[in-house]
Amino acid sequence: MSRPSVVVVGGGFAGYFAARTLERLVPADSADLTLISATDHLCYSPLLPEVAAGRLDPRRIAVPLHSGLQRTRLVQATVANVDFEGRTLEVVAESGPVEPVRWDRLALTTGSVTRTLPTPGVDNHALGLKTLVEAQFVHDHVLRQLELADSTANPDERRARLTFVVVGAGYAGTETAAQLQRATVTQLDRFPRLSRDELRWVLLDLAPSVLPELGPRLGRAALAVIRGRGMEVRLGTTLTSIGEGRVALSDGTGLPTHTVVWTVGVTPPPLVGRLGLAVSRGRLVVDEHLRLREGVWAAGDSAAARDPFSATGSDYPPTAQHAQRQGLVIGRNVAASLGVGRARRYRHRDLGLVADLGGVAAVARPMGVPLTGLPAKLVTKAYHLYALPAAGNRLRVAADWALNLVSRPIAAQLGLVGPAAARLAAEHEGADR
Ligand SMILES: Cc1cc2nc3c(=O)[nH]c(=O)nc-3n(C[C@H](O)[C@H](O)[C@H](O)COP(=O)(O)OP(=O)(O)OC[C@H]3O[C@@H](n4cnc5c(N)ncnc54)[C@H](O)[C@@H]3O)c2cc1C
Repeated sequence: MSRPSVVVVGGGFAGYFAARTLERLVPADSADLTLISATDHLCYSPLLPEVAAGRLDPRRIAVPLHSGLQRTRLVQATVANVDFEGRTLEVVAESGPVEPVRWDRLALTTGSVTRTLPTPGVDNHALGLKTLVEAQFVHDHVLRQLELADSTANPDERRARLTFVVVGAGYAGTETAAQLQRATVTQLDRFPRLSRDELRWVLLDLAPSVLPELGPRLGRAALAVIRGRGMEVRLGTTLTSIGEGRVALSDGTGLPTHTVVWTVGVTPPPLVGRLGLAVSRGRLVVDEHLRLREGVWAAGDSAAARDPFSATGSDYPPTAQHAQRQGLVIGRNVAASLGVGRARRYRHRDLGLVADLGGVAAVARPMGVPLTGLPAKLVTKAYHLYALPAAGNRLRVAADWALNLVSRPIAAQLGLVGPAAARLAAEHEGADR
């Protein structure tokens, strides 16, 4: 009789930690382990803003799946659909559809994609920051705007090139705006014809505060830092359309710009909607053991698990902290279904979030303790080094950070990512191919 086939879909935080737990718990001769993922690495997304700002090389935060998983068969491909009755997966590789993959136990950890809204122009003009490809493109694009502003004699064109808009003031948007603004200011000495007053960074959010995930006090502290650096923060405001060289805002005004970074939140990839299962805000509804149905589990951003510690009865938020821990739990629970160990419920009290605002500025709430300034900065850096799941990546990130203290990061547009690959539509198709 063939061994049971255990398949994990998605090689992000939840999938990687689920597979690692399965390798540890399930004896090699009692099940075949397979991980199918669209990329060959886990992207440590909390550091994407540093890649966009040019302070870290993209490879530093790409954790190769091959280095962490020893006996799991890795398949770089996309799962297009799941047949729950026949227990097979429809799989598409770069070359086209491949043989369906049989499963006896299935873990769905497909993460999320950037949420778009029906705002005209978003699909064609907005830049996401959810993948390494997008972060690298944003980096090049911002540097290119400085070059183009420097080389034009047209004042309107110059103004538009030097105006940068970030939509969404959650942790991804606020960190990105803060770090990129600082990076552009640092570059100005290379462009003697551009002045600091011409550089305009605008952060928009419909919410009344920035960084709501960190609470009002730290949100106010972050706001003071970024406004103090000259960033325009317009709360209660969003974009109503994005056109070529101009955006319209909900307060009736407009801005000339060629740069809109779109960080308004995430939603599960299209595969999740195709499964025909119960969802909450688009995420697959799982029970307290993260079980979706007989033989199937889901974890991470794609899964909606009720948070028993939440006063409002909401689901656990889509963060790496939960995805990683949920991955460990589904690894255990799949193993338990194969007769190894006992199934566990998922219960995790939030350890807090950190937000690096560039320079010595940061805000953090480790274990509920609000921190700002240097203490927050040290906690933020230490947390990322601890949370990066591979020693090689950790070492290189630490080395880059140390070098950045004594030498300015190398600023160059490598042009490795074309505009088509960086479009939000491409991100969604990538998760859906
Ligand atoms: C800019 C930014 C900053 C962030 N900062 C923080 C932070 O400071 N702290 C924090 O806790 N969280 C942070 N997050 C959130 C965190 O990154 C996510 O919550 C986390 O990555 C979710 O993990 P996951 O395993 O569910 O999904 P992911 O890590 O997104 O992994 C999903 C994987 O599934 C693959 N995949 C998707 N669909 C398919 C398919 N159909 N077939 C095959 N493979 C597929 C994808 O390619 C990917 O490899 C940040 C996110 C962003 C974008």
